[in-house]
Amino acid sequence: MQISEIFYSIQGEGPKTGEKAVFIRLAGCNLRCKFCDAKYAYKGGELALNELIAKIKMYDCNNIIWTGGEPALQIKEIYKIIRKLKGYSHDIETNGTFFFLPRLFETIVISPKKQAINNNLTRKYKELNNVYFKFVVGNLKDYIFWKKFTGDLKIKKQKVYFMPEAKTRKILIEKSKWLISQAKKDGFNFSGRLQILKGFN
Ligand code: SF4
Repeated sequence: MQISEIFYSIQGEGPKTGEKAVFIRLAGCNLRCKFCDAKYAYKGGELALNELIAKIKMYDCNNIIWTGGEPALQIKEIYKIIRKLKGYSHDIETNGTFFFLPRLFETIVISPKKQAINNNLTRKYKELNNVYFKFVVGNLKDYIFWKKFTGDLKIKKQKVYFMPEAKTRKILIEKSKWLISQAKKDGFNFSGRLQILKGFN
């Protein structure tokens, strides 16, 4: 598999914030978002499946988060690992441009991007109990856009997390205050970014 990095940490975003996990950041992405904070993951190094499994087992943690880049680009390899690793739970963070076997994952967090919206796929995903949507919001225009999107596609509000676009602690705190008040007013969830707030990885 093409891997960018593997590390053990605490989930800093979305519905499972605070949970410990082994993060496997797969290399490569089919999109090029301006605000991308994982550009370093566009390229990575090759790791054989048995080497990856050995690395995963080094950690005292049976919760895996597949992230990227866009992990669904290597979904067939992910399936192989899931089948080989007994007793592990798997979450995946995706941009929602590919459909894959949802039942293999405990949680699927989709972060749609404006330049690659796929309404048909979104309609399929929104019906699944283990799917959540996380929208990156840089400003009020973004917020209004994604709020309308969730309304038009009738996505349940409890599945929706709005998360500030921020690369520094200062910007994150400023935008969080504003975004929390917007989300609360409209009945959506808010997602922070613990990894920026705390500076951990
Ligand atoms: S989809 Fe995610 S990883 Fe890919 S370019 Fe956009 S923000 Fe970066």
